[in-house]
Amino acid sequence: MRDFAEAPVTDRPVAFIDLQSQRARIGARMDAAIARVLAHGAFIMGPEVAEAERRLAAHCGAKHVVTCSSGTTAMIMALMAKDVGRGDAVFVPSFTFTATAEVAALVNATPVFVDVHADTMCMDANSLERAVAVAKQTGLRPACVIPVDLFGQPADYDAIGAVAKAHGMWILDDAAQSYGATYKGRKLGTVADITATSFYPSKPLGCYGDGGAVFTDDPEVTERLTQVRVHGQGKDRNENVRIGLTARFDSIQAAVLIEKLNIFDAEITERNAVAARYDEALKDLVQTPHVPKDCTSVWAQYTIRTPRRDRIVAALKDKGVPTNVFYPKPIHVQAPYRGYPVAGNGLPVTEELAHDVVSLPMHPYLTPAEQDRVIAALRTALR
Ligand SMILES: *Cc1c(COP(=O)(O)O)cnc(C)c1O
Repeated sequence: MRDFAEAPVTDRPVAFIDLQSQRARIGARMDAAIARVLAHGAFIMGPEVAEAERRLAAHCGAKHVVTCSSGTTAMIMALMAKDVGRGDAVFVPSFTFTATAEVAALVNATPVFVDVHADTMCMDANSLERAVAVAKQTGLRPACVIPVDLFGQPADYDAIGAVAKAHGMWILDDAAQSYGATYKGRKLGTVADITATSFYPSKPLGCYGDGGAVFTDDPEVTERLTQVRVHGQGKDRNENVRIGLTARFDSIQAAVLIEKLNIFDAEITERNAVAARYDEALKDLVQTPHVPKDCTSVWAQYTIRTPRRDRIVAALKDKGVPTNVFYPKPIHVQAPYRGYPVAGNGLPVTEELAHDVVSLPMHPYLTPAEQDRVIAALRTALR
């Protein structure tokens, strides 16, 4: 085996996420696609928006896709379409991006925090069961579970689905980081009752601004989502059938998304090759990511666990290798969320993870030479 400590040192910093290399790959087609929108001038709900929705539906196999202005908005639209509100408990992990819990609070429901698995870092169905008991004791009605497909891989839908079914709840999949991943051969977008994703530029499938989408097979939910997206509009613009939002996707972002979708499957393959190289080089050093055999990941992040996290962050920075800690402070300990209930015995795994996770550079354009620099820096730091 080669000695990674001897990898050559170059001055150019490694990119954590590299959108410039992607632009080099598709720049000309992208510029032409944006120019077409500038020429026709239908900036809101232009033909690219409907086309993006058709392409996304064909890509994942969902019957209906409603694009919108962000991943956060996608989840709010789903909760509003299902009339989730006051008195309802919405079960969310605490080890996630704030938006997952925020959307429950925004519709006046109560987020109830659930612990995660130490290996997949996704929602633990046993903790969910305990959280449901807590919610019922405090007089809340269990309404909805929002599992998060964290860092690019699916949550445990069979186990979570069994608890949801037992308590009459529906499932909203927060796939903001993981569109393109599969659970037991099914693409996300088709696994939960409703799925929300984000096209924020740094997500695996991003556009060049904010954007998101909701996926479902339910035609009634789809009709409500399209109403909520535009001020609760009914059949024509003078009829308002419910309270809604201004939540449309715009034509330029849709045009960008279509071009990125054209190379997305190739990029997923490339991301998996990068992850496999990391796995091989790091598995004896740190806890590498665990993707269950019947699932695939799109590697939004490559997140390792090590008790020497803070030392590693500093040492890698020194060598021009960027890292990020997702998430150093779980949501349930943040000021606006401290009053909300947590699962029966607390969230011990969440609190451990907050102390020892760190995410390494991960994108489809990471070269083996750049990866060797990351690996060498890690080996030196852990010596
Ligand atoms: C990014 C993200 C969101 C929010 O998406 P936006 O498009 O930024 O609103 C929600 N949940 C998770 C897990 C995310 O990573």
